[in-house]
Amino acid sequence: MSVFKMDNDIERVLYSQEAIAEAAKRVGQQLAHDYENKTPIILVVLKGAALWAVDVMRYMEYTEVEFINVSSYNGGITSSGEVSLVTDIQSDVNNRDVIIMEDIVDTGRSLKFMKELLVQRGANSVKTASLLDKKEGRVVEEDVEYIGFDVPKAFVVGYGLDYSVNGKELYRNLPYVGILKKEVYAPEHA
Ligand code: 5GP
Repeated sequence: MSVFKMDNDIERVLYSQEAIAEAAKRVGQQLAHDYENKTPIILVVLKGAALWAVDVMRYMEYTEVEFINVSSYNGGITSSGEVSLVTDIQSDVNNRDVIIMEDIVDTGRSLKFMKELLVQRGANSVKTASLLDKKEGRVVEEDVEYIGFDVPKAFVVGYGLDYSVNGKELYRNLPYVGILKKEVYAPEHA
């Protein structure tokens, strides 16, 4: 049953609100276990990972939260291939254990860029917890240690992930992850 008008733009729901809550709990509890007696920095990759990070960190003990914004998408549904730093981390990561919180790892370019930055700045360890892992999209080899779901190679939106329409970043507030209808992003091919 449709609740929002937005729901009509979705072809198929891949991960329900309930399934995502379960995944956040599983990953959060695993992180709590693996980082016991440590105070890691949860590095939230803006803007897409905001919801995921909040839900995962509820299950963790002592943590700090920082934000970074890198850009590889120029809007639309394809990656530009070039990663740039939009908003830098505010704190010193030297000697710190950092957990990169991603919404989705696709080509792996953004992750590579951030890992190199953190290592260069002296981070003690860098691991990644991503809601979605689109392994088929990988261009550079990057592993994701904590994964919510392995996602097929489709353009997905919801639960933090957006599609930019006329400069507006829409669908981030959908409670689930779904495939966008083709007629929404390519009306001429629908
Ligand atoms: P990568 O650098 O791994 O190619 O891309 C990572 C970024 O690309 C993600 O943080 C996200 O912003 C964007 N991205 C990749 N695949 C998708 C997708 O299916 N849907 C949306 N909304 N964004 C995606």
